[in-house]
Amino acid sequence: MKRIVFCDFDGTITAEETFVAVLKEFAPEVSAELMPQMYARTLSLREGVRKILESIPSAHYGEILEFSRNKAICPGFTEFLDFLATKDIPLIIVSGGLRGIVETVLGDLTQRVQAIYAVDVDTSGEYLKVYSEFEADTELVAKVKVIEKYGADENIAIGDSVTDLNMALHTPLVFAKAPLCRYLQEHKKPYFPWDDFFQVGDRLVYLWK
Ligand SMILES: [Mg+2]
Repeated sequence: MKRIVFCDFDGTITAEETFVAVLKEFAPEVSAELMPQMYARTLSLREGVRKILESIPSAHYGEILEFSRNKAICPGFTEFLDFLATKDIPLIIVSGGLRGIVETVLGDLTQRVQAIYAVDVDTSGEYLKVYSEFEADTELVAKVKVIEKYGADENIAIGDSVTDLNMALHTPLVFAKAPLCRYLQEHKKPYFPWDDFFQVGDRLVYLWK
């Protein structure tokens, strides 16, 4: 039986939202204009995040990675990777943020995840140019499409926000933090609440024994 864990990054692996902080720091005006529209769902994440990122000069990319460098990782993540390794279960990161930020924050842990699906940027022009292999509908990184690509027998989703809602609704086993919990309750979708990766690991040990 092939199991895969699909895990969000911002606010899930990182203790706080790194990507939103980056957008506000490096594109304050465009963010102030577009973020309320994205929260109000009158502008898609796909369009809004692209516009904000593509308003940032490529020359600032190094500073963006530097800004992300010391962001804290949620407790128990390394131990969770250890646990999954003993079961031969891969962990795949699905993030609507920048791949460079994910890799910078993870550091040496990058090698321990099976794959990272996130937004890529080209820095060769004057402004950042955004690329995403799994762009669809309203999302810059359509997490469900990534899950479908793997076709595992059992998928496990871990997330924290509305950007994980589609993924959670398409996954039988879901770990959700606030505010994702609230959206799942509205959809009457069962989930396990979690605060750190020790709890996720403990729950899976119990479910799989
Ligand atoms: Mg998140």
